Amino acid sequence: MKKGLFFSIALAAGMCMAATAVQAKTQFVTIGTGGITGVYYPTGGAIAKMVNKKKKEYGIRATVESTGGSVFNVNAVMNGDLEFGIVQSDRQYQAINGLAEWEEKGPQKDLRAVFSIHPESVTLIAAVDSGAKDIADLKGKKVNIGNPGSGQLQNSMDAFSTVGIDIEKDIAAEGVKASEAPGLLQDGRIDAFFYTVGHPNGAIKEATSGARKVRFVSISNVADLIKTHPYYAKSIIPIELYPGAENEADVSTFGVKATLVTSAKVPDEVVYAITKEVFENFEEFKGLHPAYSTLTKESMLEGLSAPFHPGAEKYYKEAGLLK
Ligand code: GLU
Repeated sequence: MKKGLFFSIALAAGMCMAATAVQAKTQFVTIGTGGITGVYYPTGGAIAKMVNKKKKEYGIRATVESTGGSVFNVNAVMNGDLEFGIVQSDRQYQAINGLAEWEEKGPQKDLRAVFSIHPESVTLIAAVDSGAKDIADLKGKKVNIGNPGSGQLQNSMDAFSTVGIDIEKDIAAEGVKASEAPGLLQDGRIDAFFYTVGHPNGAIKEATSGARKVRFVSISNVADLIKTHPYYAKSIIPIELYPGAENEADVSTFGVKATLVTSAKVPDEVVYAITKEVFENFEEFKGLHPAYSTLTKESMLEGLSAPFHPGAEKYYKEAGLLK
């Protein structure tokens, strides 16, 4: 009996040690995304899928987390709560240069770029019964400008300022998450909302397929905005993606790019593995979401303002994408 008991204890201890050894080898990394009806969430899933397939080779296990968006992700990557984050290119620029939400904290010096992904458009949706066809018509309306931590918050403030609308005085501004906005619009609790997002996506599909008819609202003065904000570019939302919307023509607005960022503190081999798996399986990756339709390997190295992480740079040099 005693011998048997000793043997069981020894066996259990041995199993524990073996489990610890396996655990020590596995590197857990988390990718911060956005709301689950956006494009960041499935994008994080697509990236994780690529690297997790090679778990035996790299010992990396990647998971995704739904978050409040770009600004939250930069901050979480900088304080070590997340290893990776998906972030709008304009926000990457502001974080590395200590602008907008980072004005007081200063430049986020450890921020590193991995690659850029799909284009995102500043999307403004309003109820048809609000009468708004252009952003300038939103005076006096209840508008969701974006939750703190989101990328769209600064974009909506910039858009309003070009048409001379003061968000404190001229509109009733709300700050809820983009995932909640379509429901609020359908319930008549807001007149319009902003979402900087790739197309097509679930939130805009939800907003355009309810009983309350909605339309995409154009953003005038985009040309002026681009002159003063070099990280913005003209962008078009193809209306065929949302047959439920009242618009007849494609929608002109401005946009940015989604980008993957990390910290200088994340080990080179982890960033190398993620970069390599996405690029070496590029066609499969591209097929994972319709918002990636315009992606090319070369375009994924553009639109970045933080320095490349050395792990990503190593892969780009090996692959001849960077000299
Ligand atoms: N661009 C949004 C943000 O930074 C997120 C969009 C998405 O989740 O696809 O907050």
